[in-house]
Amino acid sequence: MKEGKLIVVSGFSGVGKGTVIKKLMERYPDDYTFSVSATTRAPREGEVNGREYFFISRELFELMIRDDKLLEYTEYQGNYYGTPLEFTEKMLAAGKSVIFDIEVNGAMNIARHDTLPKVLIYMLPPSVKELAKRLKGRGSETKEQIRGRLERAVAEADYIPSYDVILVNRNVAETAENLRALAIAGGQDKETFNELLDFAGRLKEELTVYLSEEE
Ligand code: 5GP
Repeated sequence: MKEGKLIVVSGFSGVGKGTVIKKLMERYPDDYTFSVSATTRAPREGEVNGREYFFISRELFELMIRDDKLLEYTEYQGNYYGTPLEFTEKMLAAGKSVIFDIEVNGAMNIARHDTLPKVLIYMLPPSVKELAKRLKGRGSETKEQIRGRLERAVAEADYIPSYDVILVNRNVAETAENLRALAIAGGQDKETFNELLDFAGRLKEELTVYLSEEE
């Protein structure tokens, strides 16, 4: 039987993970299914309940935690985010690959828990300027929230060495194709990985400077 793979995608807030994943699923609808997370944050413009997320109350989320309905969950910038367990199990049993758009804690939990084939992908922006531009352009967060997300990106950068693949999102369609190829391969060569790890380190430094200048 065809075996499903867990494709875990993380990346700095504003990097365009959601858009790349959407493009990939549009192009290859039979190959992938998206793990729709539950969250207590408010929907952004254009987001649809049950498509990007299940938008639920804190009370309901806490009931899901209590009843062991989540594969993993975390608190991020004051809101809960978590992966419903049942859907993932069903899809894997049907031989489908499941894509997760989750932050580093969730990714590390999935990496630890699962014996199934999986690939952990970290997505980077081409530059700090581009990242800040995308976050501001989204228009759904306040200045303080954007700052919180960028600060969080600095902290997340320390986890990147635990991923299998690093991907720079310069162009949505191209990144979607690269993601597909690397997910199939299950990793990337060490030299490229190390070069991109250096690049991530430089982005982190640049981000730290950017944040100190914005104060
Ligand atoms: P956003 O509010 O920008 O949609 O998501 C914020 C962060 O939460 C992103 O890094 C996203 O990948 C992550 N996230 C979304 N769903 C989940 C989830 O189910 N579990 C975990 N651990 N993180 C999630």
